Amino acid sequence: MTVTGSIDASQMGISLTHEHILVDFIGADKVDPNRYNRQEVVEKVLPFLMETKAYGVKTLMECTPAYLGRDPILLRTLSQKTALQIITNTGYYGATNNKFVPGHAFEETAEQLSERWIKEWRDGIEQTSIRPGFIKISVDADDKLSQMHKKIVTAAAMTHLHTGLTIVSHTGSGKAALEQIDLLEQYGVSPKAFIWVHAQSGEPSSHVVAAKKGAWISFDNVIPEPRSIEENVKHISNLKNKGLLHTVLISHDAGWYSVGELNGGTIRPYTAIFTHLLSAITAARSIANGCSILSYVSFLFEKFYCLGYIVKDLCSCLRNKH
Ligand SMILES: [Zn+2]
Repeated sequence: MTVTGSIDASQMGISLTHEHILVDFIGADKVDPNRYNRQEVVEKVLPFLMETKAYGVKTLMECTPAYLGRDPILLRTLSQKTALQIITNTGYYGATNNKFVPGHAFEETAEQLSERWIKEWRDGIEQTSIRPGFIKISVDADDKLSQMHKKIVTAAAMTHLHTGLTIVSHTGSGKAALEQIDLLEQYGVSPKAFIWVHAQSGEPSSHVVAAKKGAWISFDNVIPEPRSIEENVKHISNLKNKGLLHTVLISHDAGWYSVGELNGGTIRPYTAIFTHLLSAITAARSIANGCSILSYVSFLFEKFYCLGYIVKDLCSCLRNKH
């Protein structure tokens, strides 16, 4: 289900499963679309969406939940202008000590919360006919899930059982991921319906446990810096070597127009997977398969591309001086 209507899963194409177009960190009690100008956001974000589309991306899951700046009308406008398939969500974001959880969620039961989310799926979000395509929740990375976060996960389980929507959960540690998977299983939800968002924050051993249960392991903070690229290659290779590559999702957690910042702040492009990670994975695979000189050189180049940028900058700086 996209913001412009339903599509067949086979039409999704290359999909970025965790990105943002707009986020407002003001807090659940103050968030309001009147705090920004939609037209200004469209103009600012559109070139970044066109850039990722040029790399072959067909679908983008916009992971900003309600009370954190979810704006289905904005997403629909951008989808129509770019012809990218954009998917929005239902659910609440518990992390950051419930700053983005609306007041009613403290009073209501998990059933009542799930009724609200199911209503969005059935009738559309707020006064629009735009329906969510997944459930986005989040929990803090504490040792144990808090009562509130258990309630959010339970509401997600109930919503999933009613709608079939996948549960995408911002989760820090492996412990919190496995606890959520256990809780979902108690409600009869398959781990296959669960995406462990920010899995890069958890230990590789937990990735394997969760993946073997069938959960999706989302490495979703790919940034064009050597440490990030190296870490992602390591995590992805680990699951590949265990025969679990089919459980891996990769994305940038990039964007976004930041409400409250001058001009929406700095937007991070949705492209590092294509400009940096894929070639690093190819090089690492070639090396693992018996290092050819060419792949080794390209691996070294990838590792030291920062140096390449410095040289390029230096050259253009010198050129400008003349
Ligand atoms: Zn995110």
